[in-house]
Amino acid sequence: MTRILIVGGIAAGMKAAATARRRKPDLDILVLQDEAEVSYSACGLPFSLGDSAAIPRAALIARSVERFRADGVDLRVRHRVEEVDISARRARIRSLDSDAISVEPFDQILFATGAQAIAPRIPTTEGAPPMLPLRSLADADRLRDHFKPGGRAVIIGGGYIGLEMAEALRLQGQAVTLVEAAPRLLPAFDPAIGEAVAAHLARHGVTTHLGVSVAETVPGGVTLADGRFIEADLALAAIGVRPRVELAAAAGVAIGETGAIAVDEAMRTNLAGVYAAGDCAEARHVVSGKAVWYPLGDIANRQGRVAGLNIAGGQSSFPGVLGTAIFKVFDLAVARTGLTPEQARQSGFDPIVVRAKAPSRARYMPNSRSIDAALVVDRRSGRLLGAEAIGPDGVDKYIDVVATAIWARLAADDLADLDLAYAPPFSPVFAAAQVIGELARKECGVLPGE
Ligand code: FAD
Ligand code: NAD
Repeated sequence: MTRILIVGGIAAGMKAAATARRRKPDLDILVLQDEAEVSYSACGLPFSLGDSAAIPRAALIARSVERFRADGVDLRVRHRVEEVDISARRARIRSLDSDAISVEPFDQILFATGAQAIAPRIPTTEGAPPMLPLRSLADADRLRDHFKPGGRAVIIGGGYIGLEMAEALRLQGQAVTLVEAAPRLLPAFDPAIGEAVAAHLARHGVTTHLGVSVAETVPGGVTLADGRFIEADLALAAIGVRPRVELAAAAGVAIGETGAIAVDEAMRTNLAGVYAAGDCAEARHVVSGKAVWYPLGDIANRQGRVAGLNIAGGQSSFPGVLGTAIFKVFDLAVARTGLTPEQARQSGFDPIVVRAKAPSRARYMPNSRSIDAALVVDRRSGRLLGAEAIGPDGVDKYIDVVATAIWARLAADDLADLDLAYAPPFSPVFAAAQVIGELARKECGVLPGE
């Protein structure tokens, strides 16, 4: 019987295991996972930390270890793969409980080792507040243990996790200061979005320091590089993640230019019978055609599904990504998809950026709010390349409509003419995507019906 070894048991690994099991029930599937739990939603951690009564820890676990085992998957938690010998088709494994070493044979292997939080290199003195990351359920448990009434938290890094956690920490009654090394928040977005988010944080009582980093943690707080001192009982380190590729690289698997594992559309690596999926792997950008690395949960699940089907003898392909993402900062949503103007230029397009403010529902509806939307369009062809948006309502819909249009290689002209659902409680007569599509087609010099 063919034996499949899967290294890593969260999104990509467990999706692959479940898919392969369904496609070929007699496969021998061994999953090795170094954490105590599998298949949980890391994406839900900030929301569970913010309100564990509404979203208890257990609700984040999509499928238990026992359920996978009942489905015939040999799943071993707290087991770390330390070395993989591809030519001998063997892996060396350490039990994290007993420290015992074992060797397991395999026919095909999937690296689903994910990503890890980058640890800030910040000197610390004894008695300083703990500096903790948020990547796993265990990290969330550690963080939760440090919440205390009237506590003070410093968030290092104003990216996706830092911003989502600002709300969680405020909900937990903590005083929150956010320190971002870049001169503005969300440097990859339009500057107006970073400014709007900074103002929104201030409205919710979060103090923000931009263009400065934390120099050291000392008893009672942290010192910034410019000498300022911030009182704190807890520091959350959220300065980004890197792909976990060391195990695969040591086994001879090729690493791509992005630093993640290079894969083809079938999620195959450069070595026969060796696959990679999820945050440890690259993907192809649908618009630029370039290899990119987006450590996102939906991509990990979709790549895991493709890898699982192919490991089980299928012929599935992963078509690529647009980098569509959305996150919440208190009651604002921020979203993006496709190429930024800079990326578009680097990919040989001649981008123009069109901006519009549009209502999320008919203006007279009490819950209608304004969406600030931007669209990146190729001037010559009118082709849609990318989009961003910010607002308290309707941002998710705008970004998903535009992402679908970009995926289908539509032009601004097509976007303006889409047949979308309209009724006052749900949308204005012209939805945000159509309003901005209309502006873009004028900018590109296209008249309706041309
Ligand atoms: P991982 O989740 O990193 O899992 C890999 C697993 O493999 C880990 O358990 C790791 O410990 C284990 N492992 C690694 N090496 C070994 C080894 N040698 N032996 C055994 N086990 C090993 N994405 C979104 O799209 N939307 C969101 O809203 C969102 N929110 C997020 C919020 C937070 C706080 C975090 C941390 C992430 C969020 N993400 C979000 C990202 C998303 O969680 C990841 O993209 C997803 O978890 C990736 O899944 P994965 O299986 O590829 O990797
Ligand atoms: P990030 O890359 O989103 O943001 C890191 C931020 O830290 C950046 O703004 C960067 O400029 C800043 N930074 C870097 N070094 C610093 C330093 N020394 N001091 C202060 N600031 C510093 O990374 P993250 O917030 O850790 O999130 C990791 C990944 O998890 C994201 O890239 C995303 O893929 C995923 N995620 C997604 C969502 C979502 O889709 N809603 C939510 C959470 C996490």
